[in-house]
Amino acid sequence: MSFQNPVFIPGPTNMPEDIRKACDMATIDHRSPVFGGILNPCLENVRKILKSDSAHIYIYPSTGTGGWETALTNTLSRGDKVLAARNGMFSHRWIDMCQRHNLDVQIVETPWGHGLPADRYEEILTADTNHEIKVVLATHNETATGVKSDIAAVRRALDAAGHPALLFVDGVSSIASMDFRFDEWGVDVAVTGSQKGFMLPAGLAILGFSDKAIDAAATAKLPRTFFDIKDMDNGYAANAFPYTPPVGLMNGLKLATDMLLDEGLENVFARHHRIAEGVRLAVGAWGLELCAASPDVYSDTVSAIRTPDGFNATDIVTHAASQYGVAFGVGLGEVAGKVFRIGHLGSLTDVMTLSGIATAEMVMADLGLDIKLGSGVAAAQDFYRSHPAASTLKAA
Ligand SMILES: *Cc1c(COP(=O)(O)O)cnc(C)c1O
Repeated sequence: MSFQNPVFIPGPTNMPEDIRKACDMATIDHRSPVFGGILNPCLENVRKILKSDSAHIYIYPSTGTGGWETALTNTLSRGDKVLAARNGMFSHRWIDMCQRHNLDVQIVETPWGHGLPADRYEEILTADTNHEIKVVLATHNETATGVKSDIAAVRRALDAAGHPALLFVDGVSSIASMDFRFDEWGVDVAVTGSQKGFMLPAGLAILGFSDKAIDAAATAKLPRTFFDIKDMDNGYAANAFPYTPPVGLMNGLKLATDMLLDEGLENVFARHHRIAEGVRLAVGAWGLELCAASPDVYSDTVSAIRTPDGFNATDIVTHAASQYGVAFGVGLGEVAGKVFRIGHLGSLTDVMTLSGIATAEMVMADLGLDIKLGSGVAAAQDFYRSHPAASTLKAA
């Protein structure tokens, strides 16, 4: 693997030099006011990035998976009913976590490549007249299939059914890259992590809780210690964590969120959409198809690309790494060997993206696929030239 080439995995993402430097800090006393000067701007900036005025923000030394556990264990009790769709590896893993916590999950099996079936959610919620379902899970962006789901439609399904269940959204590979509206969508818990849209190393679970989710925590009985939000609230009250915070990572988060807000959230989303369009045009020029079933579910942060039947898509990832020192993502679960993934989120420019497309072409040609060298590059070049970037990521 080369340390000069960008990565094209859907997280961890490429780190801007300034963010790397911000993480590299001398030791401070994490119980001194200096830490409050890092913590409080992080909480405020994350709230803005979630598009919320009032969400309670929690940051844990963990990853997105720890964020899932924070959401579940603080709000639910053994045997509680949860509604979830399974349409990829990440929704599958969150369901698995619910089951291991002895929650009763009603699973809506959904073809991989499709988005969440909000209409099925509405039928199930309407039929649940006793309001036994306590939480609805929604994976905003299925990183395994490159599929985004319509969270506003899930909120409408809850409202149409007049159902009081909490809405938990996994935004690990969407938040800070794709539009996310905590308040407008009536999200009760949003989960993300540091190593995707925030362009940081892995190591932080980042969450937003609504007042309703905070209320649920008062009676929820699942065991929790490290992830107990009450302990974190007590820590915050003293400008601290209940334990030792990862100060350098949080200093990096402060800078990353400043950079994103300085660029402007709508510009950040437009930048991701534009880069993604170039990748999708390249895929079309290769004569290949996305795993995502239709344009309305195309993800702006990752593309899962189907390879021809009988070809092992994982060979692309292995060969790209060994021959060219470039990382692409493998297919996971049901689509293992059938797709490879190009991650296009975080710190990425046209030039970086074109290098990834060019590498994928060399790899596929090396492996005997019928790919015309330069075809995808040319398609993306035409698009980028005719659609100039409106903004770039800059050091704050
Ligand atoms: C990456 C990812 C996760 C898991 O996050 P970790 O930080 O690896 O624990 C969860 N959900 C989605 C959608 C992801 O992309």
